[in-house]
Amino acid sequence: MRIAVLGAGAMGSLFGGILAEAGHEVWLVDVWKEHVDAIRQRGLRITGLSGDRVIRRVQAVESAKEVGGAELVLVFVKSTVTEEAVRGAVSLFEGHTLALTLQNGLGNVERIGSVIGFQNILAGITAQGATVVGPGEIYHAGQGLTAVGELKGAVTPRAERMAALFNEAGIQAQVSDNVMGLIWGKLLVNVGINALTALTGLLNGQLLDHPETMEVMEMAVLEATQVAVAKGIRLPYEDPVSHTMEVARATSRNRSSMLQDVSNRRKTEIEMINGAIVREAEELGIQTPVNRVLTNLVRVMERTYARN
Ligand code: NAD
Repeated sequence: MRIAVLGAGAMGSLFGGILAEAGHEVWLVDVWKEHVDAIRQRGLRITGLSGDRVIRRVQAVESAKEVGGAELVLVFVKSTVTEEAVRGAVSLFEGHTLALTLQNGLGNVERIGSVIGFQNILAGITAQGATVVGPGEIYHAGQGLTAVGELKGAVTPRAERMAALFNEAGIQAQVSDNVMGLIWGKLLVNVGINALTALTGLLNGQLLDHPETMEVMEMAVLEATQVAVAKGIRLPYEDPVSHTMEVARATSRNRSSMLQDVSNRRKTEIEMINGAIVREAEELGIQTPVNRVLTNLVRVMERTYARN
């Protein structure tokens, strides 16, 4: 299959690299010139859980225009730039092109849909994890299930083909009839962990060592749960607070992506995580003071990076 990966950082390179190894024609599209140049010159190096190797049969380009059309576009930019990235890559989308987002945060489907329409979008979540080591190299840090599905829940042949494509390449995947519930389910965990780790500098598991961080985590997740319930979202687990704590325990040694972002003075996904809860809540007339505080504090951190 002719596959374009829009945003070939940690996750885009991981999925793109593995799909290329499985024999697909993969084009990595990324604005990070040094990364694109390194992959062109030396191939894509993946280390970590799936083994150390260099993948040479993957194409890397800075502009989607060099690709032409694709049958599948995997959108793996950060959710902060989804809309501008898709706008800059409209040449990838032909009448039949499917877009798949496995990004974190709320609003990616809406932003992709605002550019290409909603007809050909699949969404999902993934428990795979990766980090960028440097130009041309990523580290495969986590393995787990990827779930994909239609926005409205139907189990369709194209969703089944997508899961099969991943499974055949060795990325464990299944079709879900509730991807929006899964996206919210992952969002609630990120609401409880990400901003708190970014603000405190703690590892995920260390949030559970302090009654103060536990209390804020619980309040933030409960507020977000209230919003999810009001929106009629079918969450994939019973108790969001204990689920978030279980995830923090299971990933205890992880530095969350938001902590990594603030450590590297990069823009975070706060607006699509805690910030999205605040916005959704406002529309529903629900108060979410804890998420507002977390959002405001991370915003101020981002704004004042240069001064510290
Ligand atoms: P990343 O920052 O490593 O990669 C994003 C890439 O997008 C970068 O290489 C950047 O140069 C590129 N980019 C930015 N603007 C672009 C544009 N206009 N066109 C093309 N490329 C552009 O991020 P990541 O960690 O791979 O995360 C991607 C998404 O996946 C996020 O939503 C994240 O929350 C989610 N996610 C990450 C992990 C993980 O372990 N890293 C796990 C699950 C989900």
